[in-house]
Amino acid sequence: RPRSSKGDGMTEVRHMKWWGWGNEGVAFEYRDKPDFAPFVQQAIGLDVTAPGVSVPEFDSLEVPESRLDDEFRTELEQIVGADHVQVDAMSRVVHTFGKSIRDLLRVRSGSLERTPDVVVYPGDEDQVQRLVHAAVAADCVVIPFGGGSNIAGSLEPAPDEERVVISLDMGRMNRVLEIDEESGLARIEAGALGPDLERELGKRGWTMGHFPDSFTHSTLGGWIATRSSGMQSDKYGDIADIVRGVRVARPGGVVEIRAIPSASTGPSVREMIVGSEGRLGVITEATMHVHRVPEVREILGYFFPNWKAGLAAMREIAESDASPTVTRVSDAPESAFSFATRKESKGIEAAGANALMRVLKARGWDLDQICLSFIGYEGSASHVRYEKKLVRKIVRRHGGFSVGKSPGRLYDQKKFDTPYIRDFLLDRGAAGDVSETAAPWSKLEHLYEHTIASARKAYDDIGVQGWIMCHLSHSYHAGACLYFTFAFMHGDEPLKQYDHVKSAIQQAFIDAGGTLSHHHAVGVEHAPWLSQDISPEGVALMQGLFDSADPKRNFNPDKII
Ligand code: FAD
Repeated sequence: RPRSSKGDGMTEVRHMKWWGWGNEGVAFEYRDKPDFAPFVQQAIGLDVTAPGVSVPEFDSLEVPESRLDDEFRTELEQIVGADHVQVDAMSRVVHTFGKSIRDLLRVRSGSLERTPDVVVYPGDEDQVQRLVHAAVAADCVVIPFGGGSNIAGSLEPAPDEERVVISLDMGRMNRVLEIDEESGLARIEAGALGPDLERELGKRGWTMGHFPDSFTHSTLGGWIATRSSGMQSDKYGDIADIVRGVRVARPGGVVEIRAIPSASTGPSVREMIVGSEGRLGVITEATMHVHRVPEVREILGYFFPNWKAGLAAMREIAESDASPTVTRVSDAPESAFSFATRKESKGIEAAGANALMRVLKARGWDLDQICLSFIGYEGSASHVRYEKKLVRKIVRRHGGFSVGKSPGRLYDQKKFDTPYIRDFLLDRGAAGDVSETAAPWSKLEHLYEHTIASARKAYDDIGVQGWIMCHLSHSYHAGACLYFTFAFMHGDEPLKQYDHVKSAIQQAFIDAGGTLSHHHAVGVEHAPWLSQDISPEGVALMQGLFDSADPKRNFNPDKII
C-alpha cells in the first residue's frame, strides 16, 4: 500500500491506491449482481466473467529520479521536520496524478514523464507559509495536494518542467478548529478529508452537508480549489456557497478573507480563491457554513414513464415551495444500469418487483423507458412531511409515482462504492468515465440529445461499441447539472480513443449552451474549452490575475489556463 508521511508522534496520512480508486483491498464485485454481466455484455460487448489483467508491479515502473538537491532538502526539513519530507518513488508517484481515466491509464502503463521531486507535509499554517516562501525564493513549482481525487488533470506537473516540483500535501492539517454555534460557522483546516471533518462536526451535532461521490478521499481545500458540489447541494449549496471565510498562504503573507455573511467589497477575492486549483497560493483553512444534524433524513425513490417527464418534474420541483436536498433523475439507460447493479433479490422482494413491472406494463408503460429518480428530504418531521406531499403532487402530474424508501436507502449506502467500477472495467480493457455540465432548464433537453448523438458519432469514428447514460443532479432556480457516464472497449491506443470521445462530449456541452464543467474544475483536461465558455476576454482577465499574483509561475502552472 502507498507509503505515507510517517514519523514520531504524527498521524499517518493515508493515500489511495497508486494505480486506482480508493483503498487497497476494496474492489467492485459483480458476482452477487446477477444482471450485471449480461448488461455489460450487451452494452459494450465486454465479457466481465473473463479474468482481468493484473496491475503491473510497482517496482516495474520507471520512475524519474528526484531533482531535489541536498541543500534544498535540508531547508525543507528544517521547516517541517525530516519525517515530513519524502522523496521515495511511491510517494512521488502517488502525488503525480488525480484519478481521471487519463490519469489511471497513464499510471498503470508507467507513463510517468514527470513526477514531483519531493512531497512535503506541513503541520500548520506557519509551516505552509515558510514552505511557499522558500519555494518561490528558490524558483520551485508548488503543487498543493488534497486527496488527489480530481478528474480534470489538476495536479500533474508539466512534462517539460525543469524546476524542482514540490507536492505540498495538506493531509496533516485536518482538524476542525472551532465551531461558532451562534453563527453556524466552523473553522476547519484545509487538509481534512470528508469523513474526518463530518465525524468531528457530528460529535457536536453539526454537519456541513457537503457529500461529493468522492467524499471519502477528498479534502476541504481540494473542494474549494475545484469548486466542488456535493449530492445534497440543492439544500446546502455548492462549496462556493458554503465557504464564507478562507486563508491562503502566499510568499508575501497570508490572504485572510474573514467569514462575513455577505459583503460589498468589490470583486470577491473569496470567489477568486474558489476554483483557483492551487494557482493563487495554498488554502490553509476555511470557515464554512454548518447546520444542525437534521431530525429526519430520507431519500425516496420514484419512477417516471420517461426522461422528458422526469426532467419536467425536476424543473417544477425547483420552482415549487419544496426544497429537497437531492433531486436526481436518471435517463432510461442509466436506470437500466442501476437495475443491473442490484444484488440478487429473493422471495417477497423479487415477487414485488416483478408484480410492479407487470402492473406498469398493463398500464401502458414502456418498460425500456422507465426513469429512476431519487429525491432527498431533510429537516423536522413536519417539514419533511410537507415537502414530500408537495413533491408527490408534482411527480404524479408528470405520470410518476413513489417506490418508497428502500431504493433510496440502497443508493445512499452504495454511492461511495460506485467509483470502484472504473478500475474493474480498466482491468478488463474497457474505459469508463464521466463528464458533467450545467445549463438553463430551457436548454437541457436539447443539450442531452446533442451530447448523446455526439458521443455515438465519436464511438462510430473510432469503431467501438460504446455506452452513454445520464442523470440530472443539482437543481437550481435557472437550470440543472447533467452528468453523463460513458464506457467503451478500448483498443491499443486507449488514451487517443478516450480523448476523442471525451472531446466530442465536451464540445457538445459548449455547443448546446452548457458549461465545460459544473463541478469537476478545469485542470489541463478541460482547459481547451475555457475561452469558448467564458469568452476570450474572460480568459484574458483571468490570465491577468494569475500573471500578477504569480509572475514566475511557481504555483501549479498551466492549470485552468
Ligand atoms: P486534489 O485532487 O488533491 O487537488 C485538486 C486541485 O485542488 C489541485 O489543483 C490542487 O492543487 C488543488 N488543491 C488541493 N488542496 C488545495 C489547497 N489546500 N490549497 C490550494 N489548492 C489546493 N467532485 C465533486 O465536486 N462532486 C462529486 O460528486 C465528485 N465525485 C467524484 C467521484 C469520483 C469517483 C472521482 C474520481 C472524483 C469525483 N469528484 C467529484 C472530483 C474530485 O473529487 C473533486 O474535484 C475534489 O474536490 C478534489 O479534492 P481533493 O482534495 O482530492 O483535491
